[in-house]
Amino acid sequence: MSCSVVERCGAVAFKRSEQNAIQVCMLADGRLNTGHAGVLLVERRGSYPLIDLRILRTSAQQGEVEPGRRKVKRQLSFQRYCHASRLLRGSLPCTPRSLHLLDDDYLGQAAHMLLKVGTWNFDIFVFDRLTNGHSLVTLMCHLFNVYGLVHHFQLDMVKLHRFLGMVQEDYHSQNPYHNAVHAADVTQAMYCYLKEPKLAEQLSPLDVFLGLMAAAAHDVDHPGVNQPFLIKTRHHLASLYQNTSVLESHHWRSTVGMLRESGLLSHLPADVSQDMEQQLGSLILATDISRQNEFLSTFREHLDNQDLDLQLASHRHFILQIALKCADVCNPCRVWELSRQWSERVCEEFYRQGDLERKFNMEISPLCNQQADSVPAIQIGFISYIVEPLFEEWQRFTEPSPLSQTMMAHLHKNKARWSRLRHAHTASDTHTHPRTEEPEPEGGEGGGGGGGGGEGEDIP
Ligand SMILES: [Zn+2]
Repeated sequence: MSCSVVERCGAVAFKRSEQNAIQVCMLADGRLNTGHAGVLLVERRGSYPLIDLRILRTSAQQGEVEPGRRKVKRQLSFQRYCHASRLLRGSLPCTPRSLHLLDDDYLGQAAHMLLKVGTWNFDIFVFDRLTNGHSLVTLMCHLFNVYGLVHHFQLDMVKLHRFLGMVQEDYHSQNPYHNAVHAADVTQAMYCYLKEPKLAEQLSPLDVFLGLMAAAAHDVDHPGVNQPFLIKTRHHLASLYQNTSVLESHHWRSTVGMLRESGLLSHLPADVSQDMEQQLGSLILATDISRQNEFLSTFREHLDNQDLDLQLASHRHFILQIALKCADVCNPCRVWELSRQWSERVCEEFYRQGDLERKFNMEISPLCNQQADSVPAIQIGFISYIVEPLFEEWQRFTEPSPLSQTMMAHLHKNKARWSRLRHAHTASDTHTHPRTEEPEPEGGEGGGGGGGGGEGEDIP
């Protein structure tokens, strides 16, 4: 770590007082040092108690646990308290007996699902349940083996597991959207894109390694609120990163911290591992949605000029940035049943932020007002301004691509479906409910069951 600056900066935690008033606690203070080129600030795991929405949604009202006791426990362990068992999410029965069944049967089914990990209708929710909440680690280990990355980079399996376990654990399972399942979903999509014939033959093992690593870690330790929220609440991360790509910088530098803590790349020459860290940063920072137009217009220009040369490492890196951006926002391109679940989850996360802002008399951020911003309206805006323009260019780049055709077909269908739902909501004035079922379901799209099966959705 000689070339790095390890900061223990001011950590800000929000906690709910007995009067429901928010308190901002400066637990520590630190020097800011982000402006020097070549000096990589590494964030240490567990240094930052971020915004703990679980505290604000204490289970006291639900009568689960004696409130004071639980509050203390959560404060002490910050975000990691709920990571002990994903079974607590309620999706699986939680008895010793069922755990045995889980080991024997569910993992076998998970292994079976991995045979179709490259299909576009792979159901990551089912896969996550079958792996007992370890979808990200299981998926990454599988893909590393598929590509022979362990052998190529002479990786230590113990260190790899340690690193992946840390990444998975540092996603917040209480976030409806920005959790480890989202990371696994983005990784699975990234894998599908890396397999595109236009790209696959040109990619080096390093490209594949960085693409998968960036996908897996791109949202690590996401607090479940957006950058404007961090800025207006004067969160220390906002000042640390000078209000620019705050979350993405945190995801990247946390990843670097975990890479170094696990020693995964410690056997490589320093200049090689530092270059990998920088490239991971460049990929993760590209997911900042406020830089969408910058990337989109550059991509469009390259396609217009037909001047992309994938023999060049810099051009391949640019395409990896675009591929990761696509993977990050590909939810509306999935089959409806999967797409709908992601839409509900992301809106739930927005609404939670809005509830928080309302409760503490802050201005409610755009898209975060459950009374005004319906799920269909949010989705139509997201598809029209972000997803559709990006995937139109991605289709141009990958063509001829059965996967791109499938994704565009889903995108158009899903957009039309959200339009009908919006009108239904408006007509019945039920826009305050984030319900997304249509009165008359469409034919032709399955219920999203088994993961990776049939429906003509498979890609080569
Ligand atoms: Zn993401």
